[in-house]
Amino acid sequence: CGIVGYIGKRDVAPLLLEGLQRLEYRGYDSAGIAIHANGPGRAGGLRTAKAKGRVRELEERVPARFNGTTGIAHTRWATHGAPSDENAHPHQDAEGRVAVVHNGIIDNASELRARLTAEGVVFTSETDTEVLAHLIGRSTAGSLEERVREALRLVEGTYGIAVLHADFTDRIVVARNGSPVVLGIGEHEMFVASDVAALVSHTRQVITLDDGEMATLKADDYRTYTTEGSRTTASPTTVEWEA
Ligand code: GLU
Repeated sequence: CGIVGYIGKRDVAPLLLEGLQRLEYRGYDSAGIAIHANGPGRAGGLRTAKAKGRVRELEERVPARFNGTTGIAHTRWATHGAPSDENAHPHQDAEGRVAVVHNGIIDNASELRARLTAEGVVFTSETDTEVLAHLIGRSTAGSLEERVREALRLVEGTYGIAVLHADFTDRIVVARNGSPVVLGIGEHEMFVASDVAALVSHTRQVITLDDGEMATLKADDYRTYTTEGSRTTASPTTVEWEA
């Protein structure tokens, strides 16, 4: 239903929760957040918090010292699996090294799920989205972009996704096919959202991805390319918005 992500220098959890609140008008049944835990006294790795219900309930569940400067968040409108804490996004692979938020529907999810289960993968939710987390987690390709690309090659359906990986702390990888993804270009910080409403309080410089397009967001840089890997050229446009 709603996606928001950030990479930069600011403490990310409050920023993402505010972004989710700006997407509340679209309706949802649960919400969640994942961050790279690189705050004071944290050795790294991903941390997540999820809750059925409103963003306020998620906010209450975010643990103390949930600090980091890179993260993704989601409001869910359930299509596969009832609204619940477990089915809320982000979804993770078995090792918890990957976090994925997803808008849309993976049409061949049950087939992929059966194949992965036969190979010993244990699923922790009923969503179609979770297959993506496992597929990305199992890829051994050198870059996160290639791991996401490999997973997307196996998937049929619609998606707007944002992906974090514990081994690639300097980036967020996003992709679009049939579900909106908008990049927000800032100064030493980058945003992603499914709706400009979540971006405009931070930047008016936006790039709307096309279907079949992916992007890598780093704090000081972004790149866009097709899901086959060839570079695309997209320059930001200024969005007009009545505050
Ligand atoms: N199909 C996914 C789910 O049911 C995503 C739903 C959405 O777009 O929020 O979890």
